[in-house]
Amino acid sequence: MKFGGTSVGKPERMHRISELITGDDEPKIVVLSALSGTTNALVEISACLASNERTTARKNIDKLEAYYKQFISDLLKTDEAKQKALHEIGEHFEFLNIILKISFSEALNKDILAQGELMSTKLFSAYLTEQEILHELIPALEFMQIDSFEEPLIGNIKVKLTQLLNHYKEKKLFITQGYICRNSKGEVDNLKRGGSDYTASLIAAAMSAKVCEIWTDIDGMHNNDPRIVEKTVAIEQMSFDEAAELAYFGAKILHPASIWPAQQFNIPVKLLNTMQPNAKGTLIVEEAGSVGVKAVAAKDGITAIKIKSSRMLLAYGFLRKIFEVFEKFRTPIDMVTTSEVAVSLTIDNKDNLQEILRELQAFGTVEMDDNQTIVSIVGNEIAKTPQVMMRLFDSLDNIPIRMVNYGGSKHNVSLLIPAEYKLQTLQVLNKGLFNL
Ligand code: ASP
Ligand code: MG
Repeated sequence: MKFGGTSVGKPERMHRISELITGDDEPKIVVLSALSGTTNALVEISACLASNERTTARKNIDKLEAYYKQFISDLLKTDEAKQKALHEIGEHFEFLNIILKISFSEALNKDILAQGELMSTKLFSAYLTEQEILHELIPALEFMQIDSFEEPLIGNIKVKLTQLLNHYKEKKLFITQGYICRNSKGEVDNLKRGGSDYTASLIAAAMSAKVCEIWTDIDGMHNNDPRIVEKTVAIEQMSFDEAAELAYFGAKILHPASIWPAQQFNIPVKLLNTMQPNAKGTLIVEEAGSVGVKAVAAKDGITAIKIKSSRMLLAYGFLRKIFEVFEKFRTPIDMVTTSEVAVSLTIDNKDNLQEILRELQAFGTVEMDDNQTIVSIVGNEIAKTPQVMMRLFDSLDNIPIRMVNYGGSKHNVSLLIPAEYKLQTLQVLNKGLFNL
């Protein structure tokens, strides 16, 4: 069971999840995110240190500490428990204050970012202890491991976690940190922002869990973005393939990487709502459950690049040369379309954009459009269903479509549009595809 930042972000929410995890006798591993806002605050503190703004960093650290002190006083009842928690959390702030004096490094940055999950799990464990709920807090840093390509080592995770759990044969309830791990050098590292979902599915896969439950503040994956479209509905069941496309192309509810471990080890994933624990939520399994369009999602911050060259005509190896440029700069490509004389593709990582554009110029005329959005339409076999395609393009009458990706997968059609058309596009698709 994984609980996200908002699910642990208030003392009363922690009280509530203690009820959710003790509802039955099944053995469980509970993965927690940092309290909502904490990781952002730590990113900010780290950025201040990196740019040597130590006074601002100190101010931010103090502000965060005050917040945690208040949190503890609302979370716990007895003075004894409060004192103990204050002391434990105090150690993390001591650490943050010490690093103010050390020169900044990437390894230090990772240490700073790890404090959020370390603190949230300690607080929750303190509450469970006060409630006399038998449990064990197990450190993710002792079993979550990534290799030098930042890929998790499921085999190692399984061995180490099993050994750890074997120490506590009399216990059935374990609490651990999401997001944080050790890298190939043994340093503290993390699974990237939003990575607690990934932790949960890696643990579920490594331990062959019966189910991996992701508890958030919404009742499952919705058919459209509920933050910007008025009427949306939760999807009851979807396949791993559909979920992977949706998570990758913009549905914020689930970290995209968290699908593959569950899929590979065939662990059902459930997306559930902490605030409405009895709502059905979304079940993600091998079978899609139904045909037709499941959802649309949008991914912002996309850059489109077009390379035009008559040399491409009848030539082989042209695409390889272009793709090699992106490989060299470790930049993933999302969408690709080609004509006989041009290739258009999209990226969302702009870190090396200038270098990439410069090298591409060797192959032809290069054009770049910034501020694009990918709108993805996902559903079981939709690309094979003519009615869906007709309804899709009928509803998009007034939208300037820059690229279309069709046929790469049976479950996905993606469109590239200028960002300013996103809201309108999601709204007309809600009507055209879902009648909502
Ligand atoms: N705390 C981390 C973040 O905010 C990881 C997570 O919440 O999943 O990105
Ligand atoms: Mg999250």
